[in-house]
Amino acid sequence: MENDLHSIESIGEFGLIKDLAEGLGTRNPLTIRGIGDDAAVCRIPKGEVLVTSTDVLVEGIHFDMSYSPLKHLGYKAVAVNLSDIYAMNAKPQQITFSIALSSKYTVEAVRELYAGAELACETYGVDLVGGDTSSSKYGMFISVTALGTAKEEDIVYRDGAKEKDLLLVSGDLGAAYLGLQILERERLIYKENPGAQPDLAGFDYVLERQLKPEPRQDVIAKLKELDVKPTSMIDISDGLASECLHLAEESEVSVQLYDTKIPIVKEVREGAKEFNMDPSICALNGGEDYELLFTIAQADFEKIKDEKLFSVIGYIDHASVGSNLIDASNNVHTLTAQGWNAFKSE
Ligand code: ADP
Ligand code: MG
Repeated sequence: MENDLHSIESIGEFGLIKDLAEGLGTRNPLTIRGIGDDAAVCRIPKGEVLVTSTDVLVEGIHFDMSYSPLKHLGYKAVAVNLSDIYAMNAKPQQITFSIALSSKYTVEAVRELYAGAELACETYGVDLVGGDTSSSKYGMFISVTALGTAKEEDIVYRDGAKEKDLLLVSGDLGAAYLGLQILERERLIYKENPGAQPDLAGFDYVLERQLKPEPRQDVIAKLKELDVKPTSMIDISDGLASECLHLAEESEVSVQLYDTKIPIVKEVREGAKEFNMDPSICALNGGEDYELLFTIAQADFEKIKDEKLFSVIGYIDHASVGSNLIDASNNVHTLTAQGWNAFKSE
């Protein structure tokens, strides 16, 4: 170990928690007490309900240390949790952040991780109010729980989509998956030839989308401003196809999705070419875009039609129709979570 790095053992678990807590302020007026006692204490605004969601991230499964900078990893761990709270049309207020670490991690490494977590908290007005610390035999585990609040009548579930509703998605899709392909390619090249310099030029956008996703607080705010309450909503963690099928199943309807309407930016179209991939497949199956997929009543179309933050990509039909992907030539393909099949003719 380099002499300016410190083992966690040298300061102990309590030393580590104290060290981390020093770098964390509270900013949210609903937080009464954060780190330091047996439990955190938070206020819930009068008349609101508590919304909570947890994710676990496992080294080697959800992230790879060879290309996840720790600061980005901390940021992403928080961001993906906040995305779940926004997907309920709620406001995230606090998080807890728990870690298990093998002995290869230093105090400085954990500080980096928490610097990223704290940056995400600051960006979204959330407080890190607690967590738990453990050792691990192999690698790092991170578990984040987000706490949010909303008026009960504002909550949007996955099961509210109705026949004839419009299907919309925020932002653009496929970039995070393409970013992962590039990181994975460079990792393999480096493994073969440790002297190799990573060739990441021109891929800034897709790499950023993979390493530092932003939850769509702005989309939730815009919908509120336009006075549109989605009938159903889900965030895109596993790919557009899979999330469409979740909405359809939970709502007992079908989704009719237009391939040509899927928002895909130039960087993704061009990058996909390099990997001999269909950009639509990146969007349908890729995942980790953390955009919001939602449905609205047709009557609300006028209110949203000029909005740039999201696009109409399809509509909701009766369950008996089955969920479909409609291609540029108007051919209809059964939508499957493995969208590769979606492009095979029936
Ligand atoms: P207990 O033994 O009661 O679980 P801990 O010593 O684990 O208490 O935690 C003491 C305080 O430090 C609590 O406020 C807890 O939320 C906080 N804490 C522990 N680990 C972490 C961590 N990894 N990140 C943030 N806060 C933590
Ligand atoms: Mg504890």
